[in-house]
Amino acid sequence: MKTLAVLLLTISHTFLFAQKNRDAKTKVIAHRGAWKNTKVPENSIASLQEAIKMHCYGSEFDVHMSADNILFVHHDHDVNGINIETTSAAELQKLKLSNGESLPTLKEYLKAGKQKKTRLVLEIKASKVSKERSLALAQKCVEMVKDLNVESITDYISFDLDVCLLVKKMAPKAEVSYLLGDKSPDEIKEMGLSGVDYHYTVFKKQADWVREFNSKGMVTNAWTVNDKETMQSLMDQGINYITTNEPELLIELIK
Ligand code: MG
Repeated sequence: MKTLAVLLLTISHTFLFAQKNRDAKTKVIAHRGAWKNTKVPENSIASLQEAIKMHCYGSEFDVHMSADNILFVHHDHDVNGINIETTSAAELQKLKLSNGESLPTLKEYLKAGKQKKTRLVLEIKASKVSKERSLALAQKCVEMVKDLNVESITDYISFDLDVCLLVKKMAPKAEVSYLLGDKSPDEIKEMGLSGVDYHYTVFKKQADWVREFNSKGMVTNAWTVNDKETMQSLMDQGINYITTNEPELLIELIK
């Protein structure tokens, strides 16, 4: 009986250890969806579906707010020369991406991304009009994520620290990471954010930051890493996530 108990204990420890090691592996986040090698437009619903199809851990996308406060997914502040922030939703909805898709609203994007395999990494873009609009956009993003019941699969990122802090206050359980690269592990910990998503050169310069963030219980992500050598060096540092335009390459490297 005693031998059996020891055996069971050993098996469960081995399993837990293996599980922990697997969890410790760097995870792949497709930057603006998986668009480059799949030949679909970035930030399109098609690019999100491609990232889900290849089982990426996460798929990142960018959100702006129209003049009449409707949320749209797009990287730049302009779409074919039309400024999102100063244009009505009705006008924006007429715009087509190169694959024929309409410029997606956040609502359409989140509905399309509602599944269990891939996390939705929502970047809240700072307004060029005012801080108030940045904060209003952040509030609307959190409310919509709640309304559509995708809280458990959504993470947030932003270059705007006030936006990050507001999201964390509204959604304390959400993973909220800061993008700019100018705050230390102690500063981010003090502010109560989940972690950082910094340009990879920050982690090159501050070679101990990945370990320091992680040891203080925060997550680390690096953008936008498209070559094997940088991917491997970040993985060696123990980075949690890598955001890339080459998710296929990183998936192969992690295997
Ligand atoms: Mg982005």
